[in-house]
Amino acid sequence: MKLRITLALALSIFALTARAEKIALVNGTIINPDKSQIVQNATIIIDGDKIAAAGDAKTISAPKDARLIDCKGKFILPGYIDTHVHFFQSGDLYTRPDVVDLTKMRPYAEEVAWIKGNLPDTFERYLRSGITSVVDVGGPMWNFEVRKKANAAARAPRVAVAGPLISSVSREKLDLGDPPIVKIDTPEQAREFVRKLAAQNPDLVKIWYIVDKDHPVDSFRPIVRATVEESHAHKLRVAVHATELETARAAVEEGADVLVHSVVDKPVDDAFVKFLKDRHIILCPTLVVFERYGRTFSHQLNLTPEEQKWGNPEVIASLDVTKIPQDKLPQRVKDALADQKGALDRIKKTYDVALPNLKKLEDAGVTIAAGTDAGNIGTIHGPALFREFQLMKEAGLTPMQILQCATVNAAKLFGGETGAHIGKLENGCFADLVILNSNPVDDIKNASDIDSVVKNGVTYPADSILH
Ligand SMILES: [Zn+2]
Repeated sequence: MKLRITLALALSIFALTARAEKIALVNGTIINPDKSQIVQNATIIIDGDKIAAAGDAKTISAPKDARLIDCKGKFILPGYIDTHVHFFQSGDLYTRPDVVDLTKMRPYAEEVAWIKGNLPDTFERYLRSGITSVVDVGGPMWNFEVRKKANAAARAPRVAVAGPLISSVSREKLDLGDPPIVKIDTPEQAREFVRKLAAQNPDLVKIWYIVDKDHPVDSFRPIVRATVEESHAHKLRVAVHATELETARAAVEEGADVLVHSVVDKPVDDAFVKFLKDRHIILCPTLVVFERYGRTFSHQLNLTPEEQKWGNPEVIASLDVTKIPQDKLPQRVKDALADQKGALDRIKKTYDVALPNLKKLEDAGVTIAAGTDAGNIGTIHGPALFREFQLMKEAGLTPMQILQCATVNAAKLFGGETGAHIGKLENGCFADLVILNSNPVDDIKNASDIDSVVKNGVTYPADSILH
């Protein structure tokens, strides 16, 4: 009995020390995008879940009780942050029945059950990709459960969430009783819905500002205004989906804090750029998602090697539209297959506007936060961020700018106490790091050359993360 107590005590002390372990990363090069700073022969001290010191080895000495990890030849950065994902969507072909209805092949309830059951795997795919925090910008009320689960798990990114999208249009096919998208018709309904959301302590309130000939910009404006007023009264920030220039302008005029996509219909004008900067708006470009629906449906999917290796294999297997029986092919897929060139032309047209817009905003000093819209059809949870980096590079951003977007700027979008302690290599920040084998400042493609990932002070060799 006595022995057992002693043993239990010894084990608990061991567990305690394991948690509060001191680690010194030595001999590496640190890259701190926050200050555009590169320090060779650097030391980082990790004490428990926090960074205790980071900088030149000449000024920082490792405590005697620290476990030393030699990082010679390695590059150490803050863990990446994807600021636009949706956990209620898997990225597979069945995840948006409102876009292509394949419910006869896989009922939507089955899809959602799979998504919920697969969450631990999805979390690990983020970690494998060096992504230690993500923002889910909208989903059903069970999004709040996702946040709780992720934040309680070791092998998961930190998660910030919005609840259901306040929308100008409805999406009945996604409604299983806890809809991700809720059509709001009056300002009073908007206020009531925000109050309901506020009780769940969301990190953001999200508006789906969909505009078409039946839903002009101005008809939804009073609802945007009421949503923003009520959210701000609860100290909640508002993120808006607005992909046209005039919709985005209207959203910011009504007080939005975050734009979750690029403007894709027109070049942004100087007044708009200045407006975003003056209002301290954060914009998340989500370039990758603009190609993935069209490429998937037209059987021209361009998954990167990272996506092929670290994406969920079941999700990826589903994306081959040639496996759908002819009689079950949705019209949208039939049309895309019949005109493959047309699909690519439309994507090119989008990028011809979105990429210069991104460059213009970045050059003007607007805060850009990297994000993918992962979970949408063909946009793979985790490694999609590296395709986003490629596209940001095509837009003309430097590697250091891209790294800023994915760390310090993204942390601002994440927000709150957590957001203030991620995305930087600084005393007191969470010890969430990515350790690379090659220098991402030389070429952003090296951002995926991951040796290991540190989350909450715990080190994971990259190859050990996925099962
Ligand atoms: Zn989205």
